Amino acid sequence: MTVLMSSAEGLDLLAHPVAQARLDALRARAADLPHEPSPRQALDALLDQGPCVFLENHRCGVHAARPDGCRAAYVWHEPWFCGRPDYDQCVPAELNALRVARVYERMLAEVEAGRKPFWGFILPVTALLAEHAEAYRGGADLEPLVQPHWLQGELVEFPDAARLRREQAEHRRIFQDERSPLGSPRADDVASRDDLAAIPLY
Ligand code: SF4
Repeated sequence: MTVLMSSAEGLDLLAHPVAQARLDALRARAADLPHEPSPRQALDALLDQGPCVFLENHRCGVHAARPDGCRAAYVWHEPWFCGRPDYDQCVPAELNALRVARVYERMLAEVEAGRKPFWGFILPVTALLAEHAEAYRGGADLEPLVQPHWLQGELVEFPDAARLRREQAEHRRIFQDERSPLGSPRADDVASRDDLAAIPLY
């Protein structure tokens, strides 16, 4: 329930047929969010609400459209590390920076499309988009529609474009500058760090 996701990922998720079928449950859960709690109370309330609304028979019902936070959960290395004799079971810091940079990149693409992107926990982000997806696509600012307790619980945030550009550049720089002790992927997989950026993660 505390998976973080961006509004762009929320649109993808809502296009999944299972997500559409779960809209009522999603709205009911969103309506149960606490009113004006402290951040700690908001988090406790969310954690008390049970598993993700998209869980079906102990499996992810929206697997193909699940957000990056779900894809990266408990993923300790990338597929191309498998079988390497020097594999040390950790995701190199540079790859974490690449993952984060890609999230910012996607949000900046939303800005360039004339939208005001946001991020937050999976429940309020999808609930907000379920009600206002068309307005969001059309460039509407959804921030005034977010109930205050979501903001108090730091569950939804609307970063401005300058912050997105700054943080994207910083994470991209870390990716470019850091040198993993494991080095680059196998030489027969990629020829350069630019190629590494093109490798699908997870
Ligand atoms: S993997 Fe699927 S069921 Fe699990 S938290 Fe993510 S969206 Fe929900």
